[in-house]
Order: sequence, then structure tokens, then C-alpha cells
Amino acid sequence: MKKGEDIEFIKEGKRVDGRGFDELRDIKIEVGVLKRADGSCYLELGNNKVIAAVYGPREMHPRHAQDAKMAVVKFRYNMAPFSVDDRKRPGPDRRSVEISKVSREAVEPVIIKEYYPKTAIEVYVEILQSDAGTRTAGINAASVALADAGIPMKDLVSSVAVGKVGGEVVLDLNAVEDNYGEADMPIAMIARRNVITALQMDGRMTKEEIEKGLKLAMNACHQIYELQRTALLKRYDSSEDRAA
Ligand code: UDP
Repeated sequence: MKKGEDIEFIKEGKRVDGRGFDELRDIKIEVGVLKRADGSCYLELGNNKVIAAVYGPREMHPRHAQDAKMAVVKFRYNMAPFSVDDRKRPGPDRRSVEISKVSREAVEPVIIKEYYPKTAIEVYVEILQSDAGTRTAGINAASVALADAGIPMKDLVSSVAVGKVGGEVVLDLNAVEDNYGEADMPIAMIARRNVITALQMDGRMTKEEIEKGLKLAMNACHQIYELQRTALLKRYDSSEDRAA
């Protein structure tokens, strides 16, 4: 495998996969793909393939973990062993525990938890194939699956990463850019209100670069929001039954 410094990240204004600096990978969203879950979503972001399933609101167990005033939101992000180049050891690890927490915090602000005291709303995100940006893909899918489950929400949450590769601020890093680039900054936001609900950062960027990245992310989240909305409308405008 090449080392980061050997990679020509930018060539004639294009990135390693031919995209422009402000270009998203292709996104595909399908709603209601699982029969057993209350809500579900399958989402592709370039070569990432993720599925989100939502259960609830349902009675919270163990009972001592209930909140008498509102629902408790649980979020589990999991990478399938076959989702990465080298088989991943099954089960939770530090990374998945961290991403689960961050993803929960990203979607929680739009959920009207007060409507369902003492209940649990459970979100499961399974990464089937990864190519960097899996947490952002998972948050986008989870947001749609929550809506599909009929969970009362103030809005949808949309998510994308920005970062720095080859000295340029770029949108939606792929695996080569993420692993060998200079910085990676995943962001989640309520696109229609420009409210950020999660922001992380790996690497270094100047204040100006961060501002530029935030602008790219805001534009992209508006695009993603439209795709999420269109997928939900497609699901509920048609008279088809739920997934067989
Ligand atoms: N990755 C991997 N094995 C791991 C963790 C990550 O191969 O155990 C790869 C995977 O393709 C992932 C990418 O590295 O999408 C970037 O991982 P990161 O931790 O930055 O999270 P992500 O960008 O997926 O949210």
C-alpha cells in the first residue's frame, strides 16, 4: 500500500476518483426495506452500503433505565466483519462505541422524546460495505429510518464529512483520502435550519479552511436532505405495501 506522501491527491483540479472538490459521491436511498423493524432505510454513499433499522417507541428495559419524562434513545453502530478489506473482528470496539454515541447525539435533537415517556427508541446501523464516511452514511440512514418508523421529529438530520487532502479542502472523503489525507471533519446538521448537531475532527485545518469546509458541508447537507425527503415521499406517496 502506498504511503500518504506518495499519493497524488489532486491532479488537474480533480480528486483521485475524478470528483471536484465540492462534489458528493453518488447517493441512493431506499425506505422501508425491512419487514420486522418499525422503520428502516438502505443507503449507499459511493461504495459505502449501510442499513438502518428502528424499533419503538416501546417499553424500556431494564425499567430502572426508563426516563419518567421522555423516551430514551439508543443507537448502535456496527461494522459487519465483511465490510472492510481485512476481516473485522465481530463485536463492539472502542471505535464503534464512540461512533454510536456521536451518532445518537447527532439525531437526538430532532426527536420529540417528550411524547413517549418511559419508552425506548432503538436505532441500529449496520455497515455492510465501507469506504470512509460510514458514520455520516449511518446518520443519514438512521434519520430516514426514524421518520419511516413514524417517530415524531422536528426535522431530518443530514450528515457529510469534509476534510483536507493535497492541501485542498474537499467534500465527502473516500477511503484513500480519509486514511492518507491531512484532515477529516464529519458533520451532522439540521439542514433546513443550518443547525449543527455533531462535529468531529481528525487532523489539522486552519480557521479559514474550517470555515470553507463548513460551507461545503452546509451545501451538501441541503442536497442530502432533498434526497432523504424525496426517498420518504416516494415511499409514502405510493400505495405499495411495506417490504414483503
Ligand atoms: N476502516 C477499516 N477498518 C476499521 C475501521 C475503519 O477498514 O476497523 C476503514 C473503513 O473503510 C472506514 C474508513 O476506514 O469507512 C474510515 O474510518 P473512520 O474511523 O474515519 O470512520 P468513517 O469515516 O467510516 O465514519
